[in-house]
Amino acid sequence: MKIASFQHGGVDDVGIVRPDGIVPLRALAPDAPTSMREALEWLPGRDLDADAAEPSAVLPLDAVRYLPVVPDPQSIWCAALTYLSHVREGGDRPVPDYPLFFLRVANSQVGHEEPMLLPAVSSQLDYEGELAVVIGTRGRDIPMESALDHVAGFACYNDGSVRDWQRHTSQITMGKNFDATGGFGPWLVTPDEFGDPAGHRITTRLNGEVMQDTTVDRLLFPIEYLIHYVSTVSTLEVGDVIVTGTSGGVGLRRNPPVFMRAGDVVEVEIDGIGTLRNPIAPAPAPASGGFRAYHPTIAEES
Ligand code: MG
Repeated sequence: MKIASFQHGGVDDVGIVRPDGIVPLRALAPDAPTSMREALEWLPGRDLDADAAEPSAVLPLDAVRYLPVVPDPQSIWCAALTYLSHVREGGDRPVPDYPLFFLRVANSQVGHEEPMLLPAVSSQLDYEGELAVVIGTRGRDIPMESALDHVAGFACYNDGSVRDWQRHTSQITMGKNFDATGGFGPWLVTPDEFGDPAGHRITTRLNGEVMQDTTVDRLLFPIEYLIHYVSTVSTLEVGDVIVTGTSGGVGLRRNPPVFMRAGDVVEVEIDGIGTLRNPIAPAPAPASGGFRAYHPTIAEES
């Protein structure tokens, strides 16, 4: 089953994706929720037949505004340096002993077909095509053996990265959290439909040109271990997202570097899910006059 978060008529909703359109859950059950997080709690055990929906209830796929698959997760855990090709393209970097994680905030995300915004303070917005894992059953200290039982589904993620801000300090978080820089979509695909993640191919295209191309089985740390590792630290809640990291081919590491510009179109396609497509557009000009760097005056403490 494919489940989408979307807006229709200005109202947020959630529904089942068919080849010809989206059926809002409420068209199948009047008491159904209207958000993905609630739907992930509500759906298990229910026998909904989206094919039996009234034709008038089916919204054409291009008639909705897509929201991030989970618009409001409690946490978005993003893994980095999880593909050898990406470790190696960064120079003489060792394979890390543990997965490197940073967090994204919810308003850094955008849905399918929504513009990813090029910040006013940078011209270094880069793409990172990745597989996102959405948690469906909360848990802490989740063993690897049962980790996939906690997964509600999979989606495409574009971990859009503002490279110069990512490198202001040794902590990359700032460059990963500009508003509307993380594409998340087009929808969630449940594990029964997605099957074994291992063989699935992830392809990133910029203006139609393939920039990244890998398969999930090349992950240095398997999905089960990423869930085990994060849940050792923090309870994973329903709707939480683990973004599994990117492969080689990012724009920063190309010669010359390739950064996305207004008017570009970036796509992340994962077989079994579909294609997350985002145009690139400039962010609104800052109302306040914009950012000015502040550097501390060094005075020795006595
Ligand atoms: Mg990434």
